[in-house]
Parts: sequence; structure tokens; C-alpha cells
Amino acid sequence: MRNMGVEKMKLNIDFEKLVEAFEESDITNHFFIDTQTSKILCINEAAEVQVRKKLNQLNNDRYFPIPSRNKEEHLFLRELFIYQHIHDESIAEKFHQTLERKKSIKDFNELLQNHPNLNEQWFTYEYDHIKNEVITWLCEHNIELENQNLTPTILIKELTSEEIQHMPDEIKDFKPYACLRCHNKKGMKTRIFSINISPENKLIEQETQRIMKEQFGITHHGGWSGGAQEFLTASRCMQCGSEEIFWDY
Ligand SMILES: [Zn+2]
Repeated sequence: MRNMGVEKMKLNIDFEKLVEAFEESDITNHFFIDTQTSKILCINEAAEVQVRKKLNQLNNDRYFPIPSRNKEEHLFLRELFIYQHIHDESIAEKFHQTLERKKSIKDFNELLQNHPNLNEQWFTYEYDHIKNEVITWLCEHNIELENQNLTPTILIKELTSEEIQHMPDEIKDFKPYACLRCHNKKGMKTRIFSINISPENKLIEQETQRIMKEQFGITHHGGWSGGAQEFLTASRCMQCGSEEIFWDY
């Protein structure tokens, strides 16, 4: 990983342009960010002559290669979509079948045309997935996009013991069990927080950690997802003070 210092690299690239590049990047379309000019470059193997030479020229610190997407990743994302969004078994089966064929992606996309509702859901699903991938990538490479705030508003609120009592059993019964450092099992208090957003990318995770530390003095938290509502969990060992606690039912 390059640019590991505290200093962030600032680039003046439109986020949506970056999402497009991530979407189209594959084994024949090579995308790069020119960090000096904030431009996105594309080398298309079919359209360019001397492709290797050009790629070699871009093989230095000035140019950041954008990760390329292979067919397996395209198929995997579609499989996930089928599981999460297609609840009618016979329709789901038809979609699964397209992915086993030779022209899987083309067939999958064609079948989507017959289901306008799903078609729309798929585009949102794919866009969100790539968007989060881009945000995580930017975060990992310590890159900040100028004049664009990619962090959504994060609201975290600690539940009172009375509020916890009114929670569904699945979360009420989820409790700190043992300290991972000293194995103590006694006297650990349960703290549960509601959060308005799911930890879908690294930026949200980092920001959540910052808020937990600043507002609640917590350096280590866990998560619990109840479908529509996300929760954060935290505890502390009475014996050694560690916040790394194993939770269980
Ligand atoms: Zn302990």
C-alpha cells in the first residue's frame, strides 16, 4: 500500500467518474489515476497499439492503478443479489441458471429485462456495491477527494436499560460472555447503541469508531444487525479493563 503517512493525498476527481471507472475496469480496460493531474486514464487493449509499452510507462508512483473486476466477481455479486432480493423461488431459480451458462452475464441481464422491478433494484444494488468499494479503496489508500464529503451523517445513541428491556429477545439475550484477555466472566455490563446506518464501507467504520471514542470513551465495539435496524455493542472487563469481550447468547 502506498502513501501510508498521516498526510492525505488530495485529488480533484469527481466521485461518480471514479465509480464509472471501477465499474468498467477489467482485464482489457486498464484504468489509472494520474495523481499529478487528477485525471482518469484508460488503456483499452482492443483499441490501443503498443499496449504493453503504454502500461509500462504508467508503472510508477505517479499513476494509481484502479483494481480490475474479473468475471468471478461479476457472477458473485449477481448470486448475492439473487439471494437477497429475489424471494420468488421459481424466478430465483431462472436467474441462478443464467449464471451457469457460458454467456452468463449477458443472459442474466437479458432476463432482467423481463422483470422491470428487479432490473431497477439490480442497478441500485450494483451501484451501491461499487460505490462502497470505491470509498473503501480511497480510505485504504489515504486519498481524499477535494470538495466532496463521502461520509454520511452518523447518529449514535446509547440505549437506556429500560429501552434494552423493550428490545426483541435476540438482542436482549446477546450478552458479554468472557474477556478475551484475562478470561474473566463476571460483572460485565452490557452497553447497546442504536446507529442510523450500516457499516457498509471503511469510511463509515472509521467515523463510527471516532464517534464511539469521542462521545462514549469506547475504543472497541461490536455490531449487531436486526435487519432494518443496526446496533453497536460494547462492554468492559471489570478485572483487567479490556474492551475486547466475547459475546454470546
Ligand atoms: Zn479481562
